[in-house]
Amino acid sequence: QNRMARINRRSPERVKLPKRFDELPEYKKIIAQKAISDLAGVDNPFYRSHQGAAGATTRIDGRELINFASYDYISANTHPEVLKAATVAISAYGISASASRLVAGERPLHAILEQKLASVYGTEAAVCFVSGYLTNSTIISCVVGPKDLVIHDELIHNSVLSGVKLSGASRRFFRHNDPADLEKILSSIEGDFDRILVIVEGVYSMDGDIANLPELVRLRSKFGFWLMVDEAHALGVLGETGRGTFEHFGIDSSSVDIWMGTLSKTASSCGGYIAGSLPLIEILKAQAGGFVYSVGLAPALASAAHASLLVLENEPERVASLRRNGKFFLQLAQQAGLDTGPSEGYSVVPVIVGDSLRAVQLSNDLLKAGINALPIIYPAVQEGMARLRFFLTSDHTPEQIAQAVKLTDEILQDLTQRNVGLSSLDM
Ligand code: PMP
Repeated sequence: QNRMARINRRSPERVKLPKRFDELPEYKKIIAQKAISDLAGVDNPFYRSHQGAAGATTRIDGRELINFASYDYISANTHPEVLKAATVAISAYGISASASRLVAGERPLHAILEQKLASVYGTEAAVCFVSGYLTNSTIISCVVGPKDLVIHDELIHNSVLSGVKLSGASRRFFRHNDPADLEKILSSIEGDFDRILVIVEGVYSMDGDIANLPELVRLRSKFGFWLMVDEAHALGVLGETGRGTFEHFGIDSSSVDIWMGTLSKTASSCGGYIAGSLPLIEILKAQAGGFVYSVGLAPALASAAHASLLVLENEPERVASLRRNGKFFLQLAQQAGLDTGPSEGYSVVPVIVGDSLRAVQLSNDLLKAGINALPIIYPAVQEGMARLRFFLTSDHTPEQIAQAVKLTDEILQDLTQRNVGLSSLDM
């Protein structure tokens, strides 16, 4: 009892409470942003609940909408063969791969999918991970470390930035899609770096423009760096048969050292992959934390992704239809005088609005008018570069596209005339 009394007497000084999360500046910023939305009277356009499969159309709050917010590029998400492949895999293997493939073992579907991916890129091998984000964040540190240099496009995806950080490599970036700027950096590198890795996206996710692969390949031969291309928005999109950026430019796929992609877009599943030489893939399978220490891709997801790649191969008209739709959207938007940035009208077409609040309001007003297109605001893009991003699919009809562009133009004109935006708020 005496001892307890002593402990109790002592404990008040010894108790040190951790900081409260609601006191953190990170949280205060969120509250401030919510207050701005409330002041402006705008609904939160994010995290809306969809009732059913979202493709060219979707259902929100019981209303059928034309949808431009899904990456279902070749509309494989509801393809009967893809659904069947997933169902058959569930019956055969259950839901989960249960643990890392290293310990829980492979399922035949892993090898089948990886062989298919390697054949798409014409590489020796490929390996899959459980997400695209994880793929970029885990593989970069397997090929570069603190003695090395990574140079990337300034608009590269956040998953690449996290991968570079984890690697401890030095980091430089070049002006968006500007190989001349990259060349300037390469010519003036100081320091004796062991390895240099240059990372770009095939089709840029925010702007919808295409990497200048021929120039990058020329620089690769001049400077001898490794080239890594993230094909998240290019697979199923670029090239006659949808094989991506190398097919688009008619370049040998072996000019790129690391092909990265995601299974969540054209492959209508979930997961990510790397395709490249056998030694590269063996290094990743042995060293990538996100492979060795994370669960294997769920069999049904591997099976669905494989079936989608077969759809891509067997129904090239889907790529052609997506191409027509992207070009048609871009053409109408440009005719209407909308700012589509450098988009080349393939999978992604942004409509740049500038002001974040105006972008959110435009998205909300479009939703009321029957169109679902999501805003991208700071910090995903620079302040003043807020936009609505339209993802095209092969299933969109010309009428749906024309309707979306017309309404976007009309509503944006109205918001501009009424000066709706952050600057008009009385704060
Ligand atoms: N890379 C790029 C360029 C992306 O746009 C994305 C996600 N949109 C990813 C990687 C991550 O892929 P996932 O969403 O499949 O994890």
